[in-house]
Amino acid sequence: MEPDCVFCKIASGALSAPKFHEDEWCVAFPDIEPKAPTHVLIVPKEHRASTAEIDAASEPLVGHLVAVAAALARERGLNHGYRLVLNTGADAGQTVPHLHLHLLGGRPLGDMG
Ligand code: 5GP
Ligand code: ZN
Repeated sequence: MEPDCVFCKIASGALSAPKFHEDEWCVAFPDIEPKAPTHVLIVPKEHRASTAEIDAASEPLVGHLVAVAAALARERGLNHGYRLVLNTGADAGQTVPHLHLHLLGGRPLGDMG
């Protein structure tokens, strides 16, 4: 847990958020400024700033985040598709320096910018 990290606080329960999913590795909760009808953040409980800190030992965790996102998409009936986004660093517009996977869906999402 990093002091002053908002996603550490949500993942640990120190800050409350409505959780769509929780297990030993991650939590999923709605983005505070949703960009689509479904905009869920899937967030590991253990702090890492971004994919820049992913190594071979993290592969099961990253696979798990994608599997949780796919299960949430199925639950929500996103049968026309959805987008999974992992922003890393300034050029990608990452604003929260705690690894998180975005699940976006429920409308046509257009081209990648
Ligand atoms: P990034 O651009 O870093 O990939 O995305 C960070 C996302 O976190 C943004 O979409 C932003 O709306 C969301 N966010 C930032 N602070 C909070 C918060 O305190 N609670 C929740 N639920 N989402 C947040
Ligand atoms: Zn954190």
